[in-house]
Amino acid sequence: MKNFSSKFSTARDLDRQDPLRSFRDRFVIDDPQLIYLDGNSLGRLPKNTADHLDKAVKEGWGKRLIRGWNEGWFELPQKLGAKIARIIGARPDEVLVCDSTSINLFKLTAAALRARPDLKSIISDSLNFPSDLYIFQGVVDLLGDQHQLQLLPSQDRLTINTSLLQATTQANPALVALTHVAFKSGFMYDMEKITHLVHQAGGLSLWDLSHSAGAVPLQLNRWEVDLAVGCTYKYLNGGPGSPAFLYVRKDLQEELIPPLWGWFGTQNPFEFNLDFEPAAGINRFNVSTPQVLSMLGIGPALDIILEAGVDRIREKSIQQTSYLLSLFQEWLEPLGCQLGSPLDPEQRGSHVSIRHPEAYRICQALINPVPAENQPQVIPDFRTPDNIRLGIAPLYTSFADIFRALDRMRSIISRKTYTGYPLERQQVT
Ligand SMILES: *Cc1c(COP(=O)(O)O)cnc(C)c1O
Repeated sequence: MKNFSSKFSTARDLDRQDPLRSFRDRFVIDDPQLIYLDGNSLGRLPKNTADHLDKAVKEGWGKRLIRGWNEGWFELPQKLGAKIARIIGARPDEVLVCDSTSINLFKLTAAALRARPDLKSIISDSLNFPSDLYIFQGVVDLLGDQHQLQLLPSQDRLTINTSLLQATTQANPALVALTHVAFKSGFMYDMEKITHLVHQAGGLSLWDLSHSAGAVPLQLNRWEVDLAVGCTYKYLNGGPGSPAFLYVRKDLQEELIPPLWGWFGTQNPFEFNLDFEPAAGINRFNVSTPQVLSMLGIGPALDIILEAGVDRIREKSIQQTSYLLSLFQEWLEPLGCQLGSPLDPEQRGSHVSIRHPEAYRICQALINPVPAENQPQVIPDFRTPDNIRLGIAPLYTSFADIFRALDRMRSIISRKTYTGYPLERQQVT
């Protein structure tokens, strides 16, 4: 791994040389002293979004009332879907913005299993986000408990061995449903290679892109991915609880029957036909009235990503996570911290987890410094049992942020400052 000097001037130099540095200015930075390393959980607010939403509420809802539906609201799921398609390497008519990630996962999982009635196994892995696993378990239950959900184990709590996956696909799975970038360790699969393996075994692939969309380059079409879902409130900066997206490859759209039948899944909801007839294309995976206000927050944020370009974002992300790891090795490893993420940048997304038995209290000390000490506030997040998760959002994370955050961690751990914080955990960590 490339080694960086651990002087603050190095961080400053890296920031000066950063071709994306001006993008930080596009976001609301309310407190310049605050070091925000949780953009992988809730992205920052773009300045344009605040103005756009203000106008949409006052002019759109306030003045146009119901007429707004014919003035752009109705097409929001498709229009935003087409923008996301450019970010994930798909066609504009293959992506729809609607519902939440979990609900979209439910819709696509059920549709996929019913399209392969002779195959009875689903493969996922033990690093997956639990909600994704609950959705699979629920679909299996709903379909009469005829499927087996098999979870690939992780030997090192960090990665999943591709040869294990390859061996498992010999058993002809109906569906291989994985999260591209694991939420704790940041481990990233080779999506192209795995999708190819799944196809050789005759199954369908379903990828959760929640921690990759907007952070790593994706080529869903080129890699022949069948199905995908993902969040818009993480690296896509769409706002708290903003609607999710789903992707269904064009040639599969007619074959798959959605499990939730609602009026927005028909060709024309305003025909009010008494019998459900699924729309011809991607719209059949829509269900009901779009959440207009939440959706309006997504567009300006996507424009920023498109302008910066995901390739450039990824380049900076690799440089920043490598910089973080170099400081980790110099400062934190000697203090008893362990790396909770893969060392190889090709195998990780845009966040890094650092493990320590006192991870929870270290996070509390980072978030709530003792006022008298006059230290900067750092916001990472904690993922049980021992991960301090540091999210790098290259559009607004600076090298100086990373330097200061790791320097704070070094001080908190070496001086055991965390012992002054309660062990009891808050509801949202
Ligand atoms: C963030 C995330 C989700 C979130 O699901 P919601 O339905 O929005 O609550 C789902 N899956 C993964 C892998 C995630 O990272």
